[in-house]
Amino acid sequence: MIDLHTHSIFSDGVLIPSELVRRAEYKGLKAIGITDHGDSSNIDFIIPRIVALATELNSVLNIKVLPGIEITHVPPPLIADTVKKARILGAKIVVVHGETLVEPVADGTNAAGLDANIDILAHPGLITEQEALKAKEKGIFLEISARKGHCLSNGHVAKLAKKTGAKLLINTDAHEPGDLIDKNMAKRIVCGAGLNEKDFEIMQANAALFL
Ligand SMILES: [Zn+2]
Ligand SMILES: [Zn+2]
Repeated sequence: MIDLHTHSIFSDGVLIPSELVRRAEYKGLKAIGITDHGDSSNIDFIIPRIVALATELNSVLNIKVLPGIEITHVPPPLIADTVKKARILGAKIVVVHGETLVEPVADGTNAAGLDANIDILAHPGLITEQEALKAKEKGIFLEISARKGHCLSNGHVAKLAKKTGAKLLINTDAHEPGDLIDKNMAKRIVCGAGLNEKDFEIMQANAALFL
């Protein structure tokens, strides 16, 4: 199991990154992305620290740690520039916190994320078909989320991905230890979104492209 979207105490997660990684390793994960919430006020603080820790941990552990960032509640006109800064700082995974049903994410966030140089549009809520097509064209992954609330539109996201050919990932968006899941649970969540076990394998192969 590869999970490319998690949070540590560098934003609103409860674990320091090393414990998050250890718990993921114990859960049987092959790789984990640490993608704390960021805007231009904190990305220069977060990203270099996660990059440095990932380098250390990757030299001694079997689980692979991928440093990233989740650009969160940044006004749409500022997203592209924030993404550029995150890349320069060394983020290997750039996620945009999409228009989830359960938060007042600004309209146009999905579209601005898809226009920028991002890797993953997380929990994109009621993403439109045109936006899903853009994700496919640009090779940006859409997320099936294991997180409560964010998962409410999983079926819609899965359906549009099937229709447009946009590629999917399954991520936990873990903020605490109990949010991490094993492969079996991930498969069940994927099936719960109306997809099947083969789709799950494809989604994990998509995640492996980040290794
Ligand atoms: Zn998010
Ligand atoms: Zn998140």
